[in-house]
Amino acid sequence: MANFPRKVYLEEVPKRWYNIKSDLPRLPEPPLNPQTREPIKPEDLSAIFPDSLIEQEVSLEPTIEIPGPVYKVYEMWRPTPLFYAANLRERLGLKAHIFYKYEGTSPPGSHKPNTAVAQAYYNKMEGVKRLTTETGAGQWGSALAFAGSLFGIDVKVYMVKISYIQKPGRRILIQSYGAQIIPSPSNETPPGRHILEQDPDSPGSLGIAISEAVYEAANSKDTNYSLGSVLDHVLLHQTVIGLEAKKQFEKIGIYPDVLVGCVGGGSNFGGFTFPFIGDKLRSEKKDLRVVAVEPKACPTLTEGKYDYDYGDTAKLTPLLKMFTLGYEFVPPPIHAGGLRYHGMAPLVSLLHKDGVIEARAYHQTEVFQAAIEFARAEGILPAPESAHAVKAAIDIAKEVDDEIVIAFNLSGHGYFDLSAYDAFLKGELKDV
Ligand SMILES: *Cc1c(COP(=O)(O)O)cnc(C)c1O
Repeated sequence: MANFPRKVYLEEVPKRWYNIKSDLPRLPEPPLNPQTREPIKPEDLSAIFPDSLIEQEVSLEPTIEIPGPVYKVYEMWRPTPLFYAANLRERLGLKAHIFYKYEGTSPPGSHKPNTAVAQAYYNKMEGVKRLTTETGAGQWGSALAFAGSLFGIDVKVYMVKISYIQKPGRRILIQSYGAQIIPSPSNETPPGRHILEQDPDSPGSLGIAISEAVYEAANSKDTNYSLGSVLDHVLLHQTVIGLEAKKQFEKIGIYPDVLVGCVGGGSNFGGFTFPFIGDKLRSEKKDLRVVAVEPKACPTLTEGKYDYDYGDTAKLTPLLKMFTLGYEFVPPPIHAGGLRYHGMAPLVSLLHKDGVIEARAYHQTEVFQAAIEFARAEGILPAPESAHAVKAAIDIAKEVDDEIVIAFNLSGHGYFDLSAYDAFLKGELKDV
């Protein structure tokens, strides 16, 4: 083996997204209407989502065409590079070969614009003027603010309060793209006011921020809601990552042995791994190992239960069949804000339930230690979320201790998360 190119570029962005449902031996159980507990009808969703996205949510087509205007925006930064972590291998004396797909080259710095751009486009086509959303660490808010500015849609972001305070950089980026941003829980909506009455110092959570954004969208004309992860159509849009990575590996004549991704709601993990998991499901790559990585502070796959649960705190969203820590769960304020979600994408949950993928969890100090090792070898400072994948990739390399090929998704850069690195370097970071 060895003598791999340091980086693998690709000329062309894939023309179609991949729909893993076409390869699944069984489909996830359907979302339920929160009032009736009956399977949700498309018209139940039309108050907050455009018809085109509702169609994608239930589609069983193997592939779906990327619309021209979305494709044009993708071409601003896609295809993203696949790097061979030669320096990291040498620094840590690893036998395994580690590759990483780098999604931090998008303008807002993560994989999130892959779906933000598509969602803004479909809403625009259906005459929607305004989008509300939530954001944890601010990555999703900045991605949707960016997409909104490209397609002329007003964006209002409810940002989890603890991150709003910890990460002023993301707030400023969101405002620079022209979006409005409100710390959540807020006084703007009944669900926010309800939480504040119970606990004026609530740090907020994604579940609460989703309630606020959904409430506002459902109760205003011309306004839709946009979700940055979890739902099937979001994971569909993200498959552009894995489709590119597969082509990049084909170009150098390799098929990876292990794939790794961090999981918050499951979108970068699903986007990166689903095109490969399709091969595994079709029994073409039976031995492929796929590993999802989460924080010990929010251990959805490793300690949650597989059941129907609400997607938000105020019980406004459909019930989803997923691994969940409970809709009222408020995770400790770890720095990987994007991994602080109580639930998990139904598609990722089903694959875990059926034993197709593995899951593991880490404490944040060990994750930051791995991120620092990575930065000192490869130069890129990972987003705290992505650092979970870095940690797992290194650990798996050590555990297997052989010349296997491990590929992980470096879902974003950490240049807006410097205060978290500062705390780690000063020894002030706690495991919670
Ligand atoms: C939001 C985010 C995540 C977690 O969300 P997923 O939907 O699980 O991908 C991971 N990494 C980065 C950089 C993020 O911004």
